[in-house]
Amino acid sequence: MSDRSGVGNVSRLPSLQEIRKAPKVLLHDHLDGGLRTATIIDLARERGHVLPSGDPDNLADWFRDASDSGSLDRYLETFAHTVGVMQSREALIRVAAECAQDLADDGVVYAEVRFAPEQHSEGGLTLDEVVEAVLEGFRQGSAGPDGRPRIRVGTLLTAMRHQARSREIAELAVRYRDVGVVGFDIAGAEAGYPPTRHLDAFEYLQRENAHFTIHAGEAFGLPSIWQAIQWCGADRLGHGVRIIDDITVSDIGPDGAGDGEAKLGRLAAYVRDKRIPLEMCPTSNVQTGAAPSIAEHPIGLLRRLYFRVTVNTDNRLMSGTSLSLEFAKLVEAFGYDWDDLQWFTVNAMKSAFIPFDERLALINGVIKPGFAHLKWQA
Ligand SMILES: [Zn+2]
Repeated sequence: MSDRSGVGNVSRLPSLQEIRKAPKVLLHDHLDGGLRTATIIDLARERGHVLPSGDPDNLADWFRDASDSGSLDRYLETFAHTVGVMQSREALIRVAAECAQDLADDGVVYAEVRFAPEQHSEGGLTLDEVVEAVLEGFRQGSAGPDGRPRIRVGTLLTAMRHQARSREIAELAVRYRDVGVVGFDIAGAEAGYPPTRHLDAFEYLQRENAHFTIHAGEAFGLPSIWQAIQWCGADRLGHGVRIIDDITVSDIGPDGAGDGEAKLGRLAAYVRDKRIPLEMCPTSNVQTGAAPSIAEHPIGLLRRLYFRVTVNTDNRLMSGTSLSLEFAKLVEAFGYDWDDLQWFTVNAMKSAFIPFDERLALINGVIKPGFAHLKWQA
């Protein structure tokens, strides 16, 4: 497979199959955006929920097409179907268990998966019962056949930014923090719903020494990122792609007059200096128009400038993706090698919401040896 003689030591880029074997870390993944289509069909039948198709492959295509359509209504309709079938304890346990299994099968060793408890009470479950069901599902799905965990899953509780329940959900996150909930998030339409609307929840979490990330700078620009960091105190930024608006790169130009140097505005410089993690989701950003294409995604420049960039999936079902596939697309677009992929992975592990000693144990005991093995084989 490779030439280890040292002669003609041509570096070959990592393939999708090889990337699947790498020990990866995922920080931004939505539980209601990653269901298996066969499971949606099963659960819909039990609940009498009507779907656009009863065939798993057709349904997968429908989800991807609706998300690709550029229509917000069609995109939101996809979540009506996934959330719609996640309204009982059994359904939540199954979906969470399969999520953990699918991520482990993709080689993810640590994941933070988020969901909004307030969206799962149509069947009569209380918020606590919703959280307990999802935690139980992650517990079941993380165990391998020998009972030993194949993956560690931390849960993030999300509040919907157009609703007014963020303080309640923040309290729920603190209540369950010793049994698997590792942080809090707000999600939903950015425009018109600035993060400062939920200041009470963020200030409460800060007083409780709790961690949180905020979806910011995806559809909406710098003010949203600025508020998330400087008003709300976010530990991480969900997406944060628009930070690129605060960076100017001088053109090299055909006559070579420019130097191609990047100049950072004060906010971009602050984000980089403070090592604020950016949870970037390349395919999802292209689907929502936050980036024109993978090749033109700001991740290329931000990685070059050593921002604390991490790579994520967002909604695996809607984007028809996996963490390995996101990495493979970046390898294709930017020519990233194993060192780049390890850098993204270590960035993500450093930025996780579990305790420092546990992050370090995963970096030194799992991630570095795993990548070293793959690099040696390449
Ligand atoms: Zn998201």
